[in-house]
Amino acid sequence: MNTTHDVIIAGASFAGITCARTLAKRGLRVCVLERKENVRHSIHTTGILVHEAYDLLKPPEYLVRKIRSVKLYSPSMKHVDVSSTDYTFYVTDTPALMEWMVAEAKKDGVEIRLNTPFEKAEQADDTIRVNDSLFCHFLIGADGARSRVAEQFGLGKNTQFLTGVEVEMSGITHRDDALYCLLDSITARGYIGWAFPTVGGITQIGIACNDKAKPEIKVMMDLAAQWFDMKDAHIVARRGGLIPVGGVVTPFMKDNVILVGDAAGMVSPLTAGGIHTALHYGAMVAEKIADHVLSHAPHPSVSLRGLYPKFGYKHVLRIIMDIGIPNAIMEMTLFSNWFKRLASFVFFSRKSGTVLR
Ligand SMILES: Cc1cc2nc3c(=O)[nH]c(=O)nc-3n(C[C@H](O)[C@H](O)[C@H](O)COP(=O)(O)OP(=O)(O)OC[C@H]3O[C@@H](n4cnc5c(N)ncnc54)[C@H](O)[C@@H]3O)c2cc1C
Repeated sequence: MNTTHDVIIAGASFAGITCARTLAKRGLRVCVLERKENVRHSIHTTGILVHEAYDLLKPPEYLVRKIRSVKLYSPSMKHVDVSSTDYTFYVTDTPALMEWMVAEAKKDGVEIRLNTPFEKAEQADDTIRVNDSLFCHFLIGADGARSRVAEQFGLGKNTQFLTGVEVEMSGITHRDDALYCLLDSITARGYIGWAFPTVGGITQIGIACNDKAKPEIKVMMDLAAQWFDMKDAHIVARRGGLIPVGGVVTPFMKDNVILVGDAAGMVSPLTAGGIHTALHYGAMVAEKIADHVLSHAPHPSVSLRGLYPKFGYKHVLRIIMDIGIPNAIMEMTLFSNWFKRLASFVFFSRKSGTVLR
């Protein structure tokens, strides 16, 4: 006998799991299809949670560490510190965080099928047939920047990306637990390089660039050796992937098929952070579907209209970042008050208590 789920979700990451948990808590039958055999594997995020994302996710304390200070380095290795007394963001043991999210979803009653890629689907009356043998009323594409759901249903696709690469290293000694960032429009064109101690004795070192450059992780590791004692360091894992920074795709839904998270292009064009939006809108999509199914509220094509993020001025700042502030100008402006204020706005959301040194 075929079981029809209320909702099938492609992708067991931030958007998909949050959407699934919210639906299950409202009493809907939900199944998540995830192509990976193990969600710990092939991590493609640095996993930094802004405070708002931390509040939504509520991960256990052993999976996170607070960051309150950022060191910004120019290409010649001059630096300024930006810190906050009242705004925190969090670095995570990301593989364990993914595993924890899946375990919590199962406790909420979500069916999760690992090693099961979403491959194809077709609409038949009010039912969607997925991978030939599964049936649902709503299909959610939470399957990342190159969404197969978007492709199958002719929905909008992401076209503008940053490429990020990262290594996880052990054996590194740190003087402090700040987030170290490199601002260099040649080495890290269109974005930044970063390095920081995370949870469990691991250090993450990474770099991302736009399509005009190649992110050279070796160069970033050599620079990190000026910040940390790396004589006993060795690589234990690698991460990386595409970050869509062109804004929300059009259309992001058609009939009962809806994209969310990276699949929908919900990443800040400025900071390239997408975890908070994936969590926030994953839950929102679920609530709109549940309201419609359970209380005959308007269809999500109506209730979601105008609610997806627009990113406004962040698109303009993305254009400026893509062009790149010449390194010589970066060297001159690093210590100016306006630059420090901009940096504190980006990293600490202009919260009161920000300290500029
Ligand atoms: C290198 C890098 C570093 C980043 N660092 C940060 C950061 O520190 N903080 C931040 O806020 N954002 C960061 N981002 C962005 C952030 O990771 C994403 O915005 C966020 O992961 C989006 O979540 P998501 O659930 O929409 O998609 P994803 O996390 O991309 O998850 C998609 C899921 O779908 C699965 N999948 C794909 N295709 C299929 C299919 N056909 N069938 C079934 N499953 C499928 C994938 O295996 C994956 O599990 C980073 C991105 C990259 C690439």
